[in-house]
Amino acid sequence: MGTSFIAESDVLIVGAGIVGLAHASAAIARGLTVTVIDRDARAVGASVRNFGHCCVTAQSGQLLDLALVAREKWLDASQKAGFFSLEAGALTIARTPAELAVVEELAASREPGQVALLTATEVRSHLSADANPPILGGALLRDDLRVDPREAVGKLADWLARQPGVRFLWQTSYQGGSDGVALTSRGEIRAERTIVCVGHDLDYLFPDLAADNQVERCGLQMALIAAPLGLALRPAVLTGTSMLRYPAFAETAAASTLAMEMASARPDLVEIGANVMFTQRPDGTVIVGDSHRYATTMDPFQGEATSSTLFDEIAGILGVPSVKVIQRWQGIYASSVRAPFLIAEPLPGVTTAIVTSGVGMTISFGLAAKTFDLL
Ligand SMILES: Cc1cc2nc3c(=O)[nH]c(=O)nc-3n(C[C@H](O)[C@H](O)[C@H](O)COP(=O)(O)OP(=O)(O)OC[C@H]3O[C@@H](n4cnc5c(N)ncnc54)[C@H](O)[C@@H]3O)c2cc1C
Repeated sequence: MGTSFIAESDVLIVGAGIVGLAHASAAIARGLTVTVIDRDARAVGASVRNFGHCCVTAQSGQLLDLALVAREKWLDASQKAGFFSLEAGALTIARTPAELAVVEELAASREPGQVALLTATEVRSHLSADANPPILGGALLRDDLRVDPREAVGKLADWLARQPGVRFLWQTSYQGGSDGVALTSRGEIRAERTIVCVGHDLDYLFPDLAADNQVERCGLQMALIAAPLGLALRPAVLTGTSMLRYPAFAETAAASTLAMEMASARPDLVEIGANVMFTQRPDGTVIVGDSHRYATTMDPFQGEATSSTLFDEIAGILGVPSVKVIQRWQGIYASSVRAPFLIAEPLPGVTTAIVTSGVGMTISFGLAAKTFDLL
């Protein structure tokens, strides 16, 4: 008696977060039939818990190349699938001379207009408030994009599911398999190539691959706040702590002075691994964050002191006495000190494609093109 498969396609994608959906998009663009499975009834992982910030301009080297490819594909996907996207760049606020020096050095190294220096008045005009400590200046990072993370992956999945040769199976967990047959919680799927895009849960499926590549979890404290009166913010907003995280800033000579300044002036921010930033959603609410903790298995308990530090900082930048919190959540992404992404072939016919730094929204479409180029 022959095996009966629950689905058959050229490619099986495991995981319907942005990495999986970007790979599904790349597969159909190559004329391949695709099955996408996800263990949940809809995506609720890192791809819906982030800022929706495609942080293109502040990448460097290979990440910048991937981000620039991804930028075009985001805009195309937004138009086809009908989800919000905004080409408004990112506003970087400089509140100390060291921060200003980093921004100026990056601007000088880029083509004119890509990192556009702004006066304090121009920065304030975006925020419509008095920041504390006072703003010295800043820059607009031209090529950054925004999407609404709560909408984008869901609408992209809906659009992909309507394309010929594409099938989604939700609440279907991948359990392994190789050589063209994948085992799932609902039965076997026949696909010449399986591409596993399970993000930080890589270790559940391939513990040795995760350990060999030092892939662990990064946990971030996030919140949604009500917009202070009159705030109509188009760009994403980054601050001095962001300059120490995103490579194009962090690689400037001026960044080492900023790192020393931050360590002595703001140990509270350094202690929680802060990247103080925010984005305003189309409904006006503002996504704010974040902190960073690293562990193989993430402690689920979120410290209120961490949230308070972030909220005080953001209230200061927005020039309000306090923020009105609507929701809080923990986001988790895969992280590795080795490399910002991991494409591997742990078994014949099985590729893993994992973003191992906080840039999955920025590079996934570019990463997907790279994965297919490597096959
Ligand atoms: C708080 C936070 C803020 C961030 N901010 C930004 C940002 O502003 N810009 C940026 O570029 N990046 C940002 N990131 C990073 C970005 O969100 C991630 O890199 C990206 O979403 C990872 O996508 P993914 O598809 O790999 O993971 P996920 O979205 O977590 O998707 C993985 C999917 O795999 C499924 N799955 C897991 N195991 C199985 C299995 N065995 N069988 C079937 N399905 C399975 C899960 O159900 C899930 O839907 C942020 C991340 C966080 C957490």
